Amino acid sequence: NKQVIFKDYVTGFPRESDMAIITTGNQKLRVAPGSKDIVVKNLYLSCDPYMRLLMKSSSGIFSPYTPGSPITGFGVGKVMDSGNPEFRAGDLVWGITGWEQYSLLKLDRLLFKIQHTDVPLSYYTGILGMPGVTAYAGFYEVCSPKKGEYVFVSAASGAVGQFVGQFAKLMGCYVVGSAGTQEKVELLKNKFGFDDAFNYKEEPGLNAALKRCFPQGIDIYFENVGGKMLDAVLLNMRIHGRIAVCGLISQYNLAQPEGVHNLMEILYKKVKVQGFAASEYYPQYSKFLDFILPCIREGKIKYVEDIVEGLENGPAALIGLFSGRNVGKQVVVVSPE
Ligand code: NDP
Repeated sequence: NKQVIFKDYVTGFPRESDMAIITTGNQKLRVAPGSKDIVVKNLYLSCDPYMRLLMKSSSGIFSPYTPGSPITGFGVGKVMDSGNPEFRAGDLVWGITGWEQYSLLKLDRLLFKIQHTDVPLSYYTGILGMPGVTAYAGFYEVCSPKKGEYVFVSAASGAVGQFVGQFAKLMGCYVVGSAGTQEKVELLKNKFGFDDAFNYKEEPGLNAALKRCFPQGIDIYFENVGGKMLDAVLLNMRIHGRIAVCGLISQYNLAQPEGVHNLMEILYKKVKVQGFAASEYYPQYSKFLDFILPCIREGKIKYVEDIVEGLENGPAALIGLFSGRNVGKQVVVVSPE
């Protein structure tokens, strides 16, 4: 069983060497008699920014990874053995699994049975999985959007951002995204249908870039990055604007979070700022599927994945999230279906 082992707590930018690939004995994992555990063969693994937070010895609401054990994350797998009456050998599932070829999953792990297989299974790490739920709940529930509003999305070409922008277009909003390369900017404008986009790494000033894109100001900011971008956005919010705080990736590798200076703007503009977590919305997963599956089948929502082959290439793909190496949703293929 090939595994990606977490070596030790990380400070600063994560490196491939913070993880080790090992191969353990070949004995087949089986569920012990009487236990309700499940054995899955992992097919696809998801690289998600929150995984960096689990590499810290103290991670706020998250339980950190255990040094010497495989890292965990969202994935898609096939049930090989099951003591749980809800799952049978052969079922396809998505949820929290280990970064390894085979995982023994305890009952307390989040696991959904996959019912729709007319779409690629890897989609359950992205558009049909946690990032999709995040974009859906974050945009429709937290942002309270209205037709004609001005929407800004940061990290806009990534797993979550690409859907937020497209949901906002479906709603009839004006949408601008920021991303870290010209290739991603083109993707936003030409594939995902954003009205405008800019490369935040090449702008001499973020405030000026936002003023150029939003001369009338921003009603909704879908926050994925934090730091300097948040400060610049605050200067450009409209009265009664909303900020959905989805993530602050620019802060995850810093020992001390950067200061945000323009908080008075929240008061002046009467902006509503709300954090949220995808996990609160899993009970609505079937409602989300009813919405998103037809969008995919009818081609109303476009989806870009960045697929890396092989568990051994997982660590590089995971840390690549923090330099923007991924173009779209970063997925690792562990085993061909
Ligand atoms: P992405 O697929 O967008 O990958 C991360 C991207 O972030 C990179 O490609 C890079 O794109 C950008 N990035 C990396 N470092 C920085 C930086 N220092 N400054 C600005 N941008 C940076 O990730 P996701 O879509 O999966 O996640 C986006 C955000 O949503 C993250 O903050 C994540 O933690 C959060 N999240 C929150 C959830 C929740 O429940 N609240 C659930 C899922 C995600 P670029 O080239 O554009 O810089």
